[in-house]
Amino acid sequence: MTGVDTAALIEWIHRFRDVIAEKREWLTELDSAIGDADHGANMSRGMEAVVAKLDAGAPATVDELLKTVGMTLVSSVGGASGPLYGTLFLRMGMAAGPVTELDSSALAASLRAGLDGIVARGKAEAGDKTMFDAMAPAVDALDEAIAGGADLGAATAAAATAAAAGRDATEPLVARKGRASYLGERSAGHLDPGAASTTLLFETLAQATALSASPAAEPS
Ligand code: ADP
Ligand code: MG
Repeated sequence: MTGVDTAALIEWIHRFRDVIAEKREWLTELDSAIGDADHGANMSRGMEAVVAKLDAGAPATVDELLKTVGMTLVSSVGGASGPLYGTLFLRMGMAAGPVTELDSSALAASLRAGLDGIVARGKAEAGDKTMFDAMAPAVDALDEAIAGGADLGAATAAAATAAAAGRDATEPLVARKGRASYLGERSAGHLDPGAASTTLLFETLAQATALSASPAAEPS
């Protein structure tokens, strides 16, 4: 597999919705420790709205598809995560342009643009204990793997592994952005909920690209 088409992106979005529904209680538990216990509900409300919108008629081009996802998240999710994930997808769409498939480099560039959008919006830096701490290493790992000649399946798998490591590294951190920062030192000792959902985002991207590389394979 050298690229992702709109069908693979839609598969990704569906898988992300499914895993968010499955892990909703866990995300809520994480957010109850250092926030206001709504991250599971926020993400699941947003992704249900996104899937309903796409099921009613998915755009044919990558930019329109990703923009639809982003706008739906912004409009359906209250809380910090809606505008932040919304910005990710909106910026990804703007970077992708009116195409029907992204090759590895274009996918990586699109995710990089999305990450930059999150930073422009939320001003998070490395170690602030936010979704940035999972997303930035994931996008870096994707770039590195592609530069090293990895195919898309291997590159997105490396990104997912890097996201998980970034998520786990948020545990000892003291939050410096978002609601968790109000807790100060008491925010240490817990995973960041947004870093946890971001890891699910990259894990499902890896699954969707692996699946489209070998359509006959058993869904995992
Ligand atoms: P809220 O904090 O409004 O209740 P959520 O609980 O849905 O919204 O999302 C919380 C997550 O949002 C945090 O775990 C963190 O990862 C992320 N977050 C919060 N503020 C920022 C920010 N400024 N930049 C990046 N991510 C942020
Ligand atoms: Mg919250």
